[in-house]
Amino acid sequence: MITEKSFYQYLKCPSWIASDAKAGHLDDKLKDRLQQDGLLPHVERELLRGRTVVEIALDDPEEGFARTLEEMKKGTPTIYAGVLLHDRYVARPDILERVEGKSKFGDYYYIACDIKRSRRLKEEYCLQGCFYADILGLVQGTKPTQGYVMHPNGEIESYLLAEFEIKYRLTLDSIERILEGTEEPHFLTSDCKQSPWFHVCKKDALECDGISRLNRVWRSEAKELEAAGFKTVTALAGMHRDLVAAKVPGISPDRLQFLHLQAKALVENRHIAVGHIDLPESDIVLIVDIEGDPLRDLYYLFGILEVRPEGTRYHSFLAKKPEEEERAWNEFIAYIRGFIGVPIYHYGWSEQEMFKVLGERYGTEREVLAMLEEQGVDLLVRLREAVIFPLSFYSLKDIAQYLGFRWRHDDASGLNSVLWYEEWLKDQKDEMMQDIVDYNEDDVRATLVLKEWAEKNLG
Ligand code: SF4
Repeated sequence: MITEKSFYQYLKCPSWIASDAKAGHLDDKLKDRLQQDGLLPHVERELLRGRTVVEIALDDPEEGFARTLEEMKKGTPTIYAGVLLHDRYVARPDILERVEGKSKFGDYYYIACDIKRSRRLKEEYCLQGCFYADILGLVQGTKPTQGYVMHPNGEIESYLLAEFEIKYRLTLDSIERILEGTEEPHFLTSDCKQSPWFHVCKKDALECDGISRLNRVWRSEAKELEAAGFKTVTALAGMHRDLVAAKVPGISPDRLQFLHLQAKALVENRHIAVGHIDLPESDIVLIVDIEGDPLRDLYYLFGILEVRPEGTRYHSFLAKKPEEEERAWNEFIAYIRGFIGVPIYHYGWSEQEMFKVLGERYGTEREVLAMLEEQGVDLLVRLREAVIFPLSFYSLKDIAQYLGFRWRHDDASGLNSVLWYEEWLKDQKDEMMQDIVDYNEDDVRATLVLKEWAEKNLG
C-alpha cells in the first residue's frame, strides 16, 4: 500500500518504506501523529466546531472508503477522518470539504485539507496534498487544483498543487520502485532519527564512512566531493587541504576547509577548535528548556537551572493538565522578570520560537518578550562558531554524551517526553511525571556541562 505517510517517510529516509514493507509497519498511532505533525483527534474536532461534520475514522481501508463514498454522494459538507482508496493507494486526509463546482456526484466536488501543527507549509504536506488530489480525481471525476493545510489556530493556508506536481510524480515513482525492490542511496541527516529503523542502520551508515557522515553537509556538496573522488570521509581527511581545494572547485575554499576539518575530526575522533567562544560575562546565568506536546499544541513544562557561584538550583513550572499552561507560563515569566540583564541560555532556536508563540497566546508584555530575546544565548550557535566535534549530529544529547554527561533515563528524548506526558494525562502515575521532570532537569544540566566545557576549552 502507498499512503500519505509514504511521502513523509521517503523524504526522511528512502529505506524506511522498504524496511516497513519487509518487516511490517510498527503500528503506533500516537507516534505517527507526532512525527507527521498531526494533533490529537479531540483537538482536531475542536478546530472543526461549528461545521456540519461527519466523522468516519475506521481502520479498515475498504470499510472506511465505503462510508466516505456514501457521505460524498450525499454531499455532506465536511467529512472528518475519511478514507480514499484506489488500487493500492490509500489516503486519509483529515478533512474532505465540499465546494461548488462539478463532479460525478453533482454540482459540487471535494477538496482535501490536513490539520498540521506546524505554522509553516512544509514540502511533505504539499506532496501529500498532491496525492490526495490524485485520488480525489479518480474517485469523483474532478481533480482539485489547490491543496490546503489547517494550522492549530484554525487558519487555513492554500497552495497551488501544480507547483509541486513534478516533485510529487518523481517521489511517487521512487516509492513505487522501492516497493518493487530497488534500493535508493541513503544520506545520513538528522531526519534519520525519525526512522524507527535507525538503530538498525546507524552502525552501517557510520561504518560505510560515506560523505554524509559530515555534520550538515549539503547533498550538492556531497555530490561534488564524490565526483572529485572523495567517496569517504577518510579519503577526504587523508588529502592535504590545498589538494582538496584544487580538485573541488565547485565549493568555496572556506566551506571546503570547514568540511575538510570536519572529516579530520571524525577520522581522528577528536574535537577541533576553530575559534574562541563568545559568551556573555556574568556570575549568574539561567538555563532554560521548555517541553511541549505538539499533539495538543501545548507547552507543559518550563524548566530553569539557576546557576550562581555558590551553586545551582533547578525550578520547574508545570502544567499538570492542559488547562494549566497559562498559569505555568505566567509563573515562568514572573520568575524570569527577577533576572534583568542575566544571560538566559538555551540549546537551539526552538525556545525563542516558543516564547513568541506563548507570548502571543497569552498577551505577554512586549518588554518581557524583548528581554527574553535580548538576554537569550543560543549555545548551539555559539558552539558551532568555535568548535568542530567528531560527530555526525550536534543535538544536545550527542554533544553532551561525547563530553561524558549521562541522562538518568535510558530512553530520554524529546519524543519520549511527549509520550510520557500523554501517559501521565491518561494514568496520572507520579513516576511518569517524575521521569518528565528528571528528563528536563538533565537537559538543562547537560547544557550547563557544555557551557562550562566551552568556557574552559574555547574561551
Ligand atoms: S542512515 Fe538514515 S537514510 Fe540511511 S537507511 Fe538509516 S535512516 Fe535511512
